[in-house]
Amino acid sequence: MHIRILGSAAGGGVPQWNCNCANCRRARHTRSFLTQSSAAVSADGKQWLLLNASPDLLYQFASFPPLSPAAPKLRGSSVAAIVLTDGEMDHVLGLLSLREQKKLRLICTRAVKRLLTNEFPLLPTLGKYCRVRCDTFPVQIAGVSISKLELPTEKAPPYSAPANRRGVVIGLRLESIRSKRVCAYLPGLPAITKDLSERVRGSDCLIVDGTFWSEDEMISSGLSSRTARKMGHVPIGGSRGSLEWLRTLDVPRKIYTHINNSNPILRKTSRERRLVEQQGIAISHDGMDIRL
Ligand SMILES: [Zn+2]
Repeated sequence: MHIRILGSAAGGGVPQWNCNCANCRRARHTRSFLTQSSAAVSADGKQWLLLNASPDLLYQFASFPPLSPAAPKLRGSSVAAIVLTDGEMDHVLGLLSLREQKKLRLICTRAVKRLLTNEFPLLPTLGKYCRVRCDTFPVQIAGVSISKLELPTEKAPPYSAPANRRGVVIGLRLESIRSKRVCAYLPGLPAITKDLSERVRGSDCLIVDGTFWSEDEMISSGLSSRTARKMGHVPIGGSRGSLEWLRTLDVPRKIYTHINNSNPILRKTSRERRLVEQQGIAISHDGMDIRL
């Protein structure tokens, strides 16, 4: 199984267009940009699953030739389906940029489908341009068995009504039917549960939410009044952070993704980055290839 990190940043990317924080300034200066969270997965190197549709998708496709049609085809796509983990803007806006394809296959929970049909009617709009087939989990596509990892959450997209939040954010368990290799993909981790730990144990690779380093990162930097958990992300550091959780998990490859531009792990020489790397955990970047 081949996993390609197309975009490793959280919403806004790095640099975020309207941000002048130290990380964004450095990214502009060094021209080292990170696009918004997305990945592609393939069991056979020919057909691909797109994990979330980032607003930066056009650039991400252009940067990874296997996602473009191969000669002698004039038009077409190697993307067999788009799989959504939630209905957040950084994960769904790119769907509109796929409207030139006659047929799209989308996999998401019923809750996310409801959000994108009623509260933010992206799917009915997209349906005016192309045919959209929408399925839910579990499903087998392109030699990959895809199931959801249920996550309890108090956070839903700001456009949604504060009603039932079950299924609004999930993780993905992707298993190659042929090689039996398993990757768990969780760009949003609102809570760590016993059930989740049991379901990801035995995976060959875990790609997980690295949005924030600390609970009060956005508050102390003056960017927001909300804590990391209130924004739906368990922070990496701290006594109940994801780094401590990852330490207990018997998974050979662990990788942080969906990294916010405020996060100190983006700085190559930061103490926080060192603490992550000392645990044998990788920090993803755009264009990272993982082969299982
Ligand atoms: Zn910034």
